[in-house]
This record gives sequence, structure tokens and C-alpha cells, in this order.
Amino acid sequence: MLKRAIFLDRDGVINIDRGYVHRKEDFCWVDGAIETVRQFNELDYLVFVVTNQGGIARAFYTEQDVLDLHNWLQSELNKQGAHIDQFYYCPHHVEGSVPEHSHVCSCRKPEPGMILAAAQEWPVDLNRSVMIGDKPSDMEAAKRAGVTGYLFCGGNLFEFCREKVWNS
Ligand SMILES: [Mg+2]
Ligand SMILES: [Zn+2]
Repeated sequence: MLKRAIFLDRDGVINIDRGYVHRKEDFCWVDGAIETVRQFNELDYLVFVVTNQGGIARAFYTEQDVLDLHNWLQSELNKQGAHIDQFYYCPHHVEGSVPEHSHVCSCRKPEPGMILAAAQEWPVDLNRSVMIGDKPSDMEAAKRAGVTGYLFCGGNLFEFCREKVWNS
């Protein structure tokens, strides 16, 4: 039985995008983000984070930093009765300095690789799924994967979803 999924960009959607956020000390929740994840959980969506983390290729921080931050994020959500089903991140960047990550890839948005990977690994109905991002590259990745994209430009994420996703 395939399920709807919500694909959430991280920086600029779940947390304020301050540029290369990689420590919980710099992590500031977007208003309504936790309630939004919980609501999608309750509506029986699969909830995925799909985030470009080119800072790994650029050696601004490590893959372990990203994993640690995501574990912390998950535990904070869990305290509020919400959860992310899986985090997907792209560690690549063509202009990076870490050799193993400094190449063209099929996962860095606007490529749809992370969304397609989730659809391979989970019972996702892409046609009924939604992506929320704050950049045109998020919308392009959504389009290429065949999911409906909504551009979030700040404000309260829960209100945004009530208007764009849950009422349509
Ligand atoms: Mg973003
Ligand atoms: Zn990649």
C-alpha cells in the first residue's frame, strides 16, 4: 500500500537558513515546523528531509556533524510527539575540496536523486506526494521527481501547509 510523502527541505523550511548550519547551537526552528511534522505524521504521510549539504564537500563541516545534528533534531521532534521517517542529504559539491565528495552527482537538488531514493526505499506514491522548499532548485527537484512543489518564503510553516497542502 503506497503512502503519500512529504519531502521537506531543511535549511529555510525546518530551521532558519543562516548559511551552512551544522551545530545545534546555530539551529533555530522555523515557526510551526514541529507542529507541521507532527501533523503530517498524524495524517499518515511518510516524512522525509531532503537537504543539500555541500558544506561537507567544502570541508566546512563533516558528514558526522550532519548526522549528529539530525539525530539531535529527531530527538527534539520525538519529545513533541513528531518524527522524521528518514533524513536524506547530499554531501557533494563540484567546487568542493574533499576529493570523494567533489564531483557532479544525481542527488544535489535540483537533481531529484534524494526524492527518488526515498521512493525506492519506502512505499511512496510520488504522484500524491509534496515537496516544500525555499529555493527554485527545490521546486525543480520536485518537478523532476513528479511530486507537487510548494515554495515556502518564510513565516509560519504550519499556516503555510494548512493553506497550501491540507486544504487542497
Ligand atoms: Mg533551503
Ligand atoms: Zn549528491
